Amino acid sequence: MNGFEQELEAFARVAIRTGVNLQKGQGLVISAPPEASHFVHLITEEAYTAGAKDVHLEWSDEETLRLRLKYAPLDALKQVPAWKFYAQNESVKDKYAVLSIYGPNPDLLEEVDGARTAAYMASIGKGATPFREYIMNNRIQWSIVAYPTIAWAKKVFPGKPAGAAQELLMKEILRVSRVTGNTDPVAAWADHNRKLHEAKDFMNEQKFRSLIYQAAGTDLTIDLPDGHIWCGGSEPSEAGVPFNANIPTEEVFTLPDKRGVNGTVSGTMPLNYNGQVIDRFSLTFKDGAVAEFKAEKGEEVLSHLLDTDEGSRRLGEVALVPHHSPVSESGLIFYNTLFDENASCHLALGKAYPTCIEGGSGLDEDGLDRAGVNSSIAHVDFMVGSAHLNIDGVKQDGTKIPVFRNGAWVLDF
Ligand code: ZN
Ligand code: ZN
Repeated sequence: MNGFEQELEAFARVAIRTGVNLQKGQGLVISAPPEASHFVHLITEEAYTAGAKDVHLEWSDEETLRLRLKYAPLDALKQVPAWKFYAQNESVKDKYAVLSIYGPNPDLLEEVDGARTAAYMASIGKGATPFREYIMNNRIQWSIVAYPTIAWAKKVFPGKPAGAAQELLMKEILRVSRVTGNTDPVAAWADHNRKLHEAKDFMNEQKFRSLIYQAAGTDLTIDLPDGHIWCGGSEPSEAGVPFNANIPTEEVFTLPDKRGVNGTVSGTMPLNYNGQVIDRFSLTFKDGAVAEFKAEKGEEVLSHLLDTDEGSRRLGEVALVPHHSPVSESGLIFYNTLFDENASCHLALGKAYPTCIEGGSGLDEDGLDRAGVNSSIAHVDFMVGSAHLNIDGVKQDGTKIPVFRNGAWVLDF
């Protein structure tokens, strides 16, 4: 892709300085699709300029994955050998930062049997448990940035020739990642982080007992556990280095009480799960667990997702995003959670971030369960926001405060 050289250099700077905020002497693991090789080279150069001691690259090739899921014996999908996870699990223990360059084909696994995909994902989830513990607890800096692969771009811009679609998507990624239109994107991110920190501080001061969501097809009460923490914008790693896990990010989020979700919520955007699309769906919760569900498209995929394990029927994340974010203003459906979740208020089925509750990083599985923190090998975001969503916060004394009206923060952050 030509014509984006300067912006790509600036984007590489954002990835290294704002995303992982790589420190002098630190190692970096990059995973990336082969199509992004030029961007990887720019990032690698920026990493060494920032003082990296080592940049380790893992290509993540989707076609190989698709072929594995289509042809490999089911037993092999269920039992991925332990040695495959060695580098991943050891690199984080060695304090390497982790940067994912991400541009998945939303339809990659359309033709693949959902049960085979689910079996493989469960096995991968288990094998990479130490790695995920580091990431989910922010023990090291990690970040995800996007790259417009052709398959993804064609999904977002159907009917356009491959090259044109890729350029259009590149432009959108650069804009919502705050690269375009800023002479100093790293400074623009510092400013954006300040605003997100103000919003999360407000929510933390309120110490809400629960949130009530109301919109067409949605009437949902979510209890928040004692000691819950709202997060948003940059967060510190275990060593105190601030980093941005997602580029872009517009959300302020916490975790729900895994037993305290009641009522019905309707998805407002298609959900891409493991290369398959679930659309026009609703979930009805009773005491935290999904008791009923419906989907006009991908109902079977949704059913597999809910059956992943005991925690995949419960919520692990509550995230607030104004309806007028740069992502939603694009008017596009990206078929990619990194973007779509930043267009909209969302919830996630599955694992909660233990960092969203006081002392959470130090709790074992039993302690987390008692505190109401959900556990699962799944963590799947789905969008519930719209221009019509209202959210009230219920304080400890029962008084209600409007938090969101017509899809926007009541207070101006
Ligand atoms: Zn989120
Ligand atoms: Zn999430």
